Amino acid sequence: MSLLGDYEDGNVFCQIIRHVEPCFKIYEDEATLAFLDIYPQAEGHTLVIPKNVRSRNILDISHEQLGLLTKTVQLVARAVTIGMRSDGVEVQQLNGSAAGQTVFHLHFHVIPRRHGIPVTPHGHAKRASENELRIVSARVRSGLVDVAH
Ligand code: AMP
Repeated sequence: MSLLGDYEDGNVFCQIIRHVEPCFKIYEDEATLAFLDIYPQAEGHTLVIPKNVRSRNILDISHEQLGLLTKTVQLVARAVTIGMRSDGVEVQQLNGSAAGQTVFHLHFHVIPRRHGIPVTPHGHAKRASENELRIVSARVRSGLVDVAH
């Protein structure tokens, strides 16, 4: 998949924004949406996407929209850290299939990290159960409440 091609509507994150596909929502505002990755590399793995721009990757988004997106990335990184009681947090962002990108709607990965525990490599994680995702989403959202205060 070319790095500089046109945005294509059929991708799964576009379907999530349009409520065609479900998601375990963590946070939403006018410009951005955060939801759990259903193939988590670690418990609490959350994705943050822009809602109103047709951006495939970090190369084709305006500074203004990227600013709104990274604001939510920071908010979610704080919420994940508090909610999952993690020692660290990894923010990952892949551009183009050569870099490992598989969904061509711009997104940031926010992954909680613990001392001595490696994360499952990108593309090798198992699908989490609905029940696991429900429990984890409540934990991360509880971290969001704490961030707000
Ligand atoms: P990337 O490979 O960087 O493009 O990341 C795409 C991410 O989307 C991967 O970590 C997938 O596990 C995740 N993913 C794929 N389909 C879904 C879905 N329906 N809901 C949530 N996450 C998804």
